[in-house]
Amino acid sequence: MNKSAARICLPTFESDELIKLIGKLIEQDKHLVPQGQGYSLYIRPTMIGTSEGLGVGYPDKALLYVICSPVGPYYKTGFKAVRLEATDYATRAWPGGVGDKKLGANYAPCILPQLQAAKRGYQQNLWLFGPEKHITEVGTMNVFFVFKDEKSGKKELVTAPLDGTILEGVTRDSILNLAKEKLDPKEWIISERYYSINEVAEKAEKNELLEAFGAGTAAVVSPIKEIGWNGKDIKVPLLPGEQSGQLTKDIAKWIADIQYGRVKHGNWSRVVADLD
Ligand SMILES: *Cc1c(COP(=O)(O)O)cnc(C)c1O
Repeated sequence: MNKSAARICLPTFESDELIKLIGKLIEQDKHLVPQGQGYSLYIRPTMIGTSEGLGVGYPDKALLYVICSPVGPYYKTGFKAVRLEATDYATRAWPGGVGDKKLGANYAPCILPQLQAAKRGYQQNLWLFGPEKHITEVGTMNVFFVFKDEKSGKKELVTAPLDGTILEGVTRDSILNLAKEKLDPKEWIISERYYSINEVAEKAEKNELLEAFGAGTAAVVSPIKEIGWNGKDIKVPLLPGEQSGQLTKDIAKWIADIQYGRVKHGNWSRVVADLD
């Protein structure tokens, strides 16, 4: 949030102080925290400039506020794998732009392509970039693929590198960290590298496309079952009778265990009562 604020000339703040204030707010609003597995209090810190005037300039006043809203489970009846439309006619982010910052301005232009994809039966856009058709993100989430690596015979977990066109999501970072801790390097390669929709299509042809999922705070992981590209649908395998692959399922559990306090992982979780 501080990096995003700094990019648009909003003031930055002491992270730990904001976390303490959020603790106080949750303490006051704890009657709003919904009970039950998968239910949560969504916490959305926000900052806006509040200068009065019509000119274009940096704000001399700003408001930092925190929205709390009780939300139900993202998946009420377990995972629901989605169909994506690989999108190269619209661009979400570009080098030197602000696509790596969490700004409202990055969302509005993505709604029309999403509606267009929805008309063709796809829930989200798979954002491609450049002549190479690199895969960047899905909707408003980071995206991961699992391939079979022909050379080593290992499996490869792949996501795009943080080159300024990718939002550096906390969920993306958590998944990379957990994968490095938990997956056996004799069986797995974990890569932040460029890869294209053409590579995914080729791998699918050779049965080397194993899994694909989006990653972000709200859903944690969101399995992908099909990708529309070049007039065809690339099929992503799912476990028999299920809505995701095995790694997607494992990651959802690793993260839920930390969120529910069943497993401790460094400072990833804070107890509100311990905050001041
Ligand atoms: C919010 C967001 C993400 C996910 O970030 P998290 O910190 O994991 O919630 C990924 N991509 C875009 C474009 C986003 O806006």
